[in-house]
Amino acid sequence: MMNIILFGPPGAGKGTQAKMICKKYNLLHLSTGDILREEIRNDKLLANNVKEIINSGKLVSDEIIIGIIDKIISKNKNTYSGYLFDGFPRNKNQAILLTSLLKKNEIKLNSVLLFDVNESVLLERILSRKEIEGRDDDNEDVLTSRLKVYHDEAEPLIEHYSSHNLLKKIDGIGEINEVNQRINLVLGKS
Ligand code: AMP
Repeated sequence: MMNIILFGPPGAGKGTQAKMICKKYNLLHLSTGDILREEIRNDKLLANNVKEIINSGKLVSDEIIIGIIDKIISKNKNTYSGYLFDGFPRNKNQAILLTSLLKKNEIKLNSVLLFDVNESVLLERILSRKEIEGRDDDNEDVLTSRLKVYHDEAEPLIEHYSSHNLLKKIDGIGEINEVNQRINLVLGKS
């Protein structure tokens, strides 16, 4: 079993790499951002202003997020060789909630991959993704707020996972395949 978290700022390439890792290792891809967008498309979560929160670049409540993850894990027991969490946990409280959820399901975390990408590259990637995916929150204004949220929450999370010896830094600059090779090298050792 392999269970990993992808952590890093918006535009770091987590989603792209997540798909490649999940295919190679047969992991269930749990992207909270993708799941929220899907729920919005299906007119769910209407009462909770989720769409407005996402478009302001702030975080959706921990309660909604953990509920989503809990449900998917319970539904997919023993179907994959592990789980890949993409964009979750986003803050220390979510990390604590995840720890108890994993414990309850007897799942052991192997690695937390921290994507390291500088801000000018992030902006470039977000703006080109906007052209392709048309996400409402992929614009310069909302990105500023998303980056602020990331920087406010990142440090405690990074400390938390380094103290558990799980954190592995990945240089996220370069070609998709190049970054993927760096990841496979790290995962091969874990
Ligand atoms: P992402 O697709 O990961 O960039 O997420 C897009 C937006 O969805 C974020 O800016 C948040 O508003 C919301 N979101 C995604 N994952 C989480 C999470 N784990 N906790 C809270 N909000 C989230």
